[in-house]
This record gives sequence, structure tokens and C-alpha cells, in this order.
Amino acid sequence: MPRLILKPGREKSLLRRHPWVFSGAIERCIGDPASGETVAVHAADGRFLAHAAWSPTSQIQARAWSFEQPDVIDEAFFRNRIAAAIARRQALPELRDLPALRLVHGESDGLPGVVADRYADTLVIQLTSAGAETWRGPLVDALQARTGCACVYERSDGEVRGLEGLPERAGLLRGRLPDHLVIEERGLRYEVDVVGGHKTGFYLDQRDNRRLLGELAAGRTVLNCFCYSGGFSLQAAKGGACLVLSIDSSAQALAIARRNAELNGVADGHCEWLEADVFATLRRLRDQGRRFDLIVLDPPKFAPTAAHVERAARAYKDINLLAFKLLTSGGLLMSFSCSGGISRELFQKIVAGAALDAGVTGRILRHLGGGADHPVALSFPEGEYLKGLLCQVGNA
Ligand code: SAH
Repeated sequence: MPRLILKPGREKSLLRRHPWVFSGAIERCIGDPASGETVAVHAADGRFLAHAAWSPTSQIQARAWSFEQPDVIDEAFFRNRIAAAIARRQALPELRDLPALRLVHGESDGLPGVVADRYADTLVIQLTSAGAETWRGPLVDALQARTGCACVYERSDGEVRGLEGLPERAGLLRGRLPDHLVIEERGLRYEVDVVGGHKTGFYLDQRDNRRLLGELAAGRTVLNCFCYSGGFSLQAAKGGACLVLSIDSSAQALAIARRNAELNGVADGHCEWLEADVFATLRRLRDQGRRFDLIVLDPPKFAPTAAHVERAARAYKDINLLAFKLLTSGGLLMSFSCSGGISRELFQKIVAGAALDAGVTGRILRHLGGGADHPVALSFPEGEYLKGLLCQVGNA
């Protein structure tokens, strides 16, 4: 088997079971592994560290499959990892029997570059590493066998594929896509666009926070910024909000959001949909003197990596500052960042700075994050990409 030998002192992160090996840590490669092939990673003193997938074009030049020397990386290995990921979710009462959930969450499920989301009888997979690509067939077989899903669709079309030297790819792998794929979440039905939608079609990671919003919405005026297919908006409407104004720049997302509102009988007067830029619209609403009791900010990833942090921080500050100005006294802000490059601490600092500049005082009522189907491996803090705060403004 080909081997990677690390530079002296560069074994520390693998010893802590962090799965990434950066190119700068590698002293030499023995053998001539193909992209995605399994290599044994050794420290400079010869000690075994991990079995990993070789990814020659990426800065993360190897991703660990296993830290156990006796493990054999073969089809059975992937069957077991997938079975374990699914069993982990089945063991949690809050996830058991949910019709829509993430079944495999990459590194945090011991499968770097592998994501699998279930939407009723349809499974959507996303492979973003050279190793995952190499094991694509066995991964799909194992996922289908374990779930019994009739349809498997691939959405390996994220930009990160390019960094791994992989072409983007999307399409049907097994079965037939339903004409209208509809899932149910907390008593609401949502149409999911697995072919043209974001990510694998739906923001499964916000399930718990949508629920919380629904519980807070009664009698309140709600502004939902970056609403996509209406996830938060519909929970707010169902929860008894007196007005829900939702903004997104994508006409395609809003078309689904409107259909979702109709599907659930909440399309009447108190849901308004606005195709517009959030940054400009928040300013306009401020200039018009509008006020809301509850505002959701769930923007796209402003900082995919550490390199974008400064510009992203300014963008987060901008929208949070405007939102604070638009809140009624005692009003609530549910604010998120899904940027890998922005830590929880930094996000809290940005939101605090925005409140200060907006001239409001307030407090954090809750720290928010992804659901239990988006676990974060203790050895892989990067897995915590979604962070949120529920803040309440007011002096009282
Ligand atoms: N809250 C949603 C997910 C939001 S995803 C849910 O729970 O389902 C981010 C959304 O922001 C996308 O729908 C995208 O179209 C939209 N978006 C990106 N930039 C925007 C901008 N400047 N103004 C308005 N919407 C924007």
C-alpha cells in the first residue's frame, strides 16, 4: 500500500484524530497512489497514524478514513460506517422516523466528503472528496440497501469538487424522481427541489430553529430575511404570526416558497413575499420607519474559508445592525452564520458590535446550531459550521 511520511512534529493533529493532512505536513509519498486511493500515513519516526484517501490536487492532501491500523478500507468498511451513521440517528428519539434528515454528515460521521440526505423515499448524495469519489459505487449501494430508498439522486455539484480535481456531477443514480417531492416537518409540508435547489434541496440543518421560531411567533410581526423556500416563514405563519414578510433574491426559491404556503393553507393575507436584495431592503424598511417583533437572518455562507473572514464580518455586521434598528422594544432577533470561516465567538462579537452601533441593548436568550442529524465530531470542530443566536432587545 502507498505510504505518506509526515515531517517531524506534523503528526500532532492526526494523533488528536483530526482527519485532515495538509500538503505542507507531508515529507514524502512512497509509491504512486492514484487520486482517491487509500494510503497509510506515518509519522517521521515511522509510527502508524491513519489510513487516508490521497487527494493530490487539494491543499488537504489526505483525509483520514480510520486511525486504527488493523482496519481494512474496503466495501465492508463503508457499509459499516454507513450503518453506524444511520443507527446513531435511529437511536435518538427526536430523529427516529423523521421523513427528512441528514443520514451522513461527512467528517463527523467518519466519512470525509460524504453527505447523504433523506427526503421521504428519495436519497440525495453529495460527494466532495477524491476518496469519496473513488468509493462512490459501494457508498451508494450501502446507502440504498440500508435505507430502502427507491430513488437516489446525486448532487456532487459544489465548487469544492474543483479543489479536489473532480468535475461537477449531478443526476439520477437509481429509480425515478417523484414529480413533486414533498416532505413533512412539524406538521407542515414542504416541496423539495433536489435537482435545482440549494445544497441537496432543503436546509435540513435549520429544523430545530424553525420549530423554535414557530413557537415564538404567535401574535408577532415577523421579518424573514433570506427565506429560500419559506422554511422559517411557514413555521411563523402556522405559529400564529400576524404578519410574515419574507425576502429572498431568488425568484426560483420564492416560487417554491409560495407553492409551499399554498400547500399548507397559509397563503392568505398575512404572508408577503418579496424578491429583493436583503441589504438594500433592510435599509429601505428602516428609512420607512417599519418595525418588526421578530426578525430572522439566515444569510448564505459569506465566508466559505478563513480568507473571506474580514469582508464577511462586515456583511454580517451590516445586516445585524439594520435588523436591530428594525426591532420593536422587546423584539427578538434570530441571527445565523453558516460560514465555516466564522467561529461562534467571532459571530457573537459581530452581533454584539452591531447592537452597540445600532444603539440597542439586549441579551442572548439562546445559542443555536444545527440539529442532531448534523453532529460535530469532538476531534473536528470545523464541523460546527452553523451557529446562531436568539437575542432580545430592550432595557427592561
Ligand atoms: N433560511 C432558509 C435558508 C436560507 S439560504 C431555510 O431555512 O430554508 C440563503 C438564501 O439567501 C438563498 O435562498 C439565497 O437565494 C438568498 N440570498 C443570497 N443573497 C441574497 C441577498 N443579497 N438578498 C436576498 N437573498 C439572498
